[in-house]
Amino acid sequence: MSAHDESAGGALIRFENAQRRYGEVVAVGGVTLDIAAGSFVALVGSSGSGKSTLLKMVNTLVEPTGGRVLFAGDDVTTVPQAQLRRRVGYVFQGIGLFPHYTVAENIAMGPRLAGEKLGEERIAELLELVELESDMASRMPDELSGGQRQRVGVARALANDPEILIMDEPFGALDPITRDALGEKVRELHVKLGLTTVMVTHDMAEALLLADRVLVMSAGEVVADESPRALLGGAGGEVAQSLVAVPREQAERLAHMEDNTP
Ligand code: ADP
Ligand code: MG
Repeated sequence: MSAHDESAGGALIRFENAQRRYGEVVAVGGVTLDIAAGSFVALVGSSGSGKSTLLKMVNTLVEPTGGRVLFAGDDVTTVPQAQLRRRVGYVFQGIGLFPHYTVAENIAMGPRLAGEKLGEERIAELLELVELESDMASRMPDELSGGQRQRVGVARALANDPEILIMDEPFGALDPITRDALGEKVRELHVKLGLTTVMVTHDMAEALLLADRVLVMSAGEVVADESPRALLGGAGGEVAQSLVAVPREQAERLAHMEDNTP
């Protein structure tokens, strides 16, 4: 098979029976899936279900032990690393800003590794995209709130002008209000920058509210692939519906309280 596959068509990412084992542990057990350019996909599933491993195969942080992953029709293992890093923006689980570098240096890290220097103007522009003041550029990560740090993580992932933004539980540690605001911000950036976005979250409500398509993983398999509307209508099977039940029951309880409040 040639490295470039025209049959990938409009799919920016294609998983072809992509598999990853760690010894006896099957982290991802043969996933076949297309992610269309321009879509906003949420990847939901319990801890250990294989979400991070699946996404790390896109930027070759993890290599498949079976099958393959295509990016714009090319097997990712054949795409030069520098090119892949530029085209795939990644917000890691736990963010990991470098504590001894300023905000500006953190944002400029990716381009710098690719031999490109980001000017002050571009850094200010990236900060503005995530609604941070340009004078934040000289701060150290520990001088920021959790939400601000997360915004810097997003700005850093966008620094190379990527085609796809992959976010691995980007808002996990945030309070609900900050989390909601950042979710809306990311959705807005997705539209404004014409991105393809994949976001891992364990919060089904967040997935339903932000994404066009929700994938549910369980034990290394994608067990549901539905629109938010279909999920709310009862589709997707048992694991998916058990996740949808949580925000639904909360909403029903709140509505019930409202009805019964004099
Ligand atoms: P999730 O992101 O959904 O929480 P992960 O993709 O991190 O799940 O992990 C899936 C499974 O693979 C887990 O059982 C995890 O322990 C295992 N795993 C992940 N990375 C490694 C690794 N580097 N070495 C060994 N096992 C791993
Ligand atoms: Mg994970």
